[in-house]
Amino acid sequence: MTRGTSGDDVAAELDELSLKYAGRLGDKVRELTAAVERARAGSPEGLAEAFKLAHTLHGTAGSYGFRPVSLAARSLEALLRPARDGVGTADWSAVETALRALAHEVAAVTTRLQPAAPAPSPARSTGPTAAEGAGTLGTVLVADADAAWLAEVERMGQERMVRVVTARAADEVVAAARRQSLDGALLHVDLGGQEGGFDAAGRLRGEEGMQTLPLAFFGEGGDVHYRLAAILAGASLYLPRPFSAQELTEAVEGMVAARRPERSRVLVVDDDPDAVRTLSAALTSQQVEVVGLSEPHGLLEALAEHRPDLLLLDVEMPGPSGFDLCRIVRSMPEWRELPVLFITAHSGVEFRVEAFEAGADDYLAKPVLPAELRARVQSRLERTRLARERAERDALTGLLLRRPFLEGVRARLAEAQRTGRPLALGMLDVDHFKQVNDTHGHLAGDSVLVRLGRLMTSRFRKEDLRCRWGGEEFMVALPGQTAQNARDILARTAAEVERLDFEGDKGERFRVTFSAGIAVAPQDGTTVETLVRVADERLYRAKSNGRNRIET
Ligand code: GH3
Ligand code: MG
Ligand code: MG
Ligand code: MG
Repeated sequence: MTRGTSGDDVAAELDELSLKYAGRLGDKVRELTAAVERARAGSPEGLAEAFKLAHTLHGTAGSYGFRPVSLAARSLEALLRPARDGVGTADWSAVETALRALAHEVAAVTTRLQPAAPAPSPARSTGPTAAEGAGTLGTVLVADADAAWLAEVERMGQERMVRVVTARAADEVVAAARRQSLDGALLHVDLGGQEGGFDAAGRLRGEEGMQTLPLAFFGEGGDVHYRLAAILAGASLYLPRPFSAQELTEAVEGMVAARRPERSRVLVVDDDPDAVRTLSAALTSQQVEVVGLSEPHGLLEALAEHRPDLLLLDVEMPGPSGFDLCRIVRSMPEWRELPVLFITAHSGVEFRVEAFEAGADDYLAKPVLPAELRARVQSRLERTRLARERAERDALTGLLLRRPFLEGVRARLAEAQRTGRPLALGMLDVDHFKQVNDTHGHLAGDSVLVRLGRLMTSRFRKEDLRCRWGGEEFMVALPGQTAQNARDILARTAAEVERLDFEGDKGERFRVTFSAGIAVAPQDGTTVETLVRVADERLYRAKSNGRNRIET
């Protein structure tokens, strides 16, 4: 039941390529810095070049497993995009901060690769080292004077694939943050004295590249005073102590997500193109992308094509009114929960009542104040994002559940058909998982699922979808990939999975493998149902052909 040498060869080759790539990262940052300087001086070519370099670095560093570098490049890319697209100007001080953060991450990689570099104190960092840490959810600094509690948090981190770095005092917080790149910090409110955690947070934020580091506090107190003080100190989250492994995971997930904000899409429908332009200008930002539509009849196509996160409707339009459009949206199961905001010159009570009866979430009267519009839209987007995260994801692995996954695949399949590109669907099933549970215990079985979920989350591209299909079955959708590519990609994943060490309930070590079946549109089918069936059949074949293999 071994994969032979091919999996190891692939992995070794990848390691070597990664090393070579890492050696060039410093030059890339220098090129990028020069391009940003030219862009800042007003050169459009400099801007185009800087954007392209950031974009490429984002993609390639990610593929080679240098995730913090990829994320930093991604922030920079997002900051440069509006200017590149001609829909805004760049915030140069934010660009500079992002560039510094990128240089910081690259320096961290370079230092790590120098054989003579002093090893970080093993007593204070657990879990895989940063070099092996690509399969982790993220790295979080946890600070508390209580060593026993820190040990407990480290254990939870190991269980959930969260890399935990610990500190017991403010000085250690700063030192630890300098030593490695972090996705966030979780500090005890009373670290080193009453409300000392806030001072530690201030010092941490004062460090280069840490100004925007996501922060959370925890503590025994949970009253309004405590929570407010934590928020004012820059925290996005307050946890009561003790918190659970699940709460830790969710906190880290939130922090990681905050470092690489997904851009939300707002669809604006107004028959007046000028109004569309004005609203777009008011809303477009690093977090929000606006798509305008001045022809109300095109709504359904626009929904399908752009898959907005929020809909902004004018009320008076020739043909169907905004209210009619809202009723239509509410009658479509897929869009029933889409936030809808109306904008109209009418502000009478009958109008407002009709808006809410048609299914509106909010209502703004013209003339619209840009700041108010932004605030209302942002708040609605954030609330919807959180609700969707909870509703669409499996709590154990963090992967998509079956239904949202299938919806996503359906949309990507339609897109693939329009553009004539293939789409590969892979179904994975852990081999002999019942035996894992029986031999090593259910908790060990759970930790296998958690780590596979983490691995799948951090692998593949942004546009790929991953899902926990059921028990120990997973699915991935890879738009644009042929059967051969998909097989290579999954073989790489299989090689990584095979190298993961797990611990059973008696402390014994074990490893796992999986089998997979791949179906590719259009040759194996053009509907999601057919593709799932074909992938399932091939998975079954992989099992009967001996397991630990991939069938296409
Ligand atoms: P095969 O190689 O043929 O896939 O064998 P298998 O033992 O993996 O197949 P089977 O589908 O019979 O067993 C799946 C097991 O997965 C049965 C179920 O108890 C276990 N399982 C499902 N969900 C979970 C979970 O959330 N946690 C744990 N620990 N086990 C789970
Ligand atoms: Mg109008
Ligand atoms: Mg199964
Ligand atoms: Mg199985």
